[in-house]
Amino acid sequence: MLAAPGAGKGTQADRLAARYGIEHIASGEILRAEVAAATAVGEKAKDYLDRGDLVPDDLLLDIIAGRVLTAALAGGYVLDGFPRTLAQAEAAHRLAVELDGVTLQAVLHLEVGADELRSRLRARASREGRPDDTEATIEHRLEVFASQTEPLLEYYRSREILHTIDGERQPDEVTAEIVALLDSLGLGLGLG
Ligand code: ADP
Repeated sequence: MLAAPGAGKGTQADRLAARYGIEHIASGEILRAEVAAATAVGEKAKDYLDRGDLVPDDLLLDIIAGRVLTAALAGGYVLDGFPRTLAQAEAAHRLAVELDGVTLQAVLHLEVGADELRSRLRARASREGRPDDTEATIEHRLEVFASQTEPLLEYYRSREILHTIDGERQPDEVTAEIVALLDSLGLGLGLG
């Protein structure tokens, strides 16, 4: 799932993982758990998360790579929040080439306009109280997405695995479109 903060990656990734019986690997959730447990990784990551900056690529790769491999061996995964920089995408690709059985079959880009993203993030701020859902941090995370993550769209387009989905519709409609897409690609057949 490749989408801006607030686009609905987490919601859709949860549903896909349940439908296809595969692992949902959410980099932000993993990092928040590390911070909450005050692990060494959490201590290093905390300030980045609070500011809405990306944590350094090597830190992220350290905690993600093993999980991806384990999930791949167990049947598959939905990646939510990773890769998020070109360097991460290239590292993930190198790893996939080295390890048999790890592949990226489809990249789903949930497209949502900036005003809608802001209003969803504000609504989530009052609902969930996530420390990085403050007004200033929301703006910063949208900028970080535009400068560091959006270039990945072109990268995956050129690899011909990018699929853009209108993420402004109701969650059920978005899920239905993704499932239909995966079926048409032959990725979801016989499952769910
Ligand atoms: P959102 O998409 O709403 O910003 P996430 O839960 O995906 O929320 O990410 C929260 C924070 O976790 C990010 O702002 C960043 O600090 C950190 N993070 C998550 N994934 C990555 C990643 N792949 N690389 C670097 N930092 C990450």
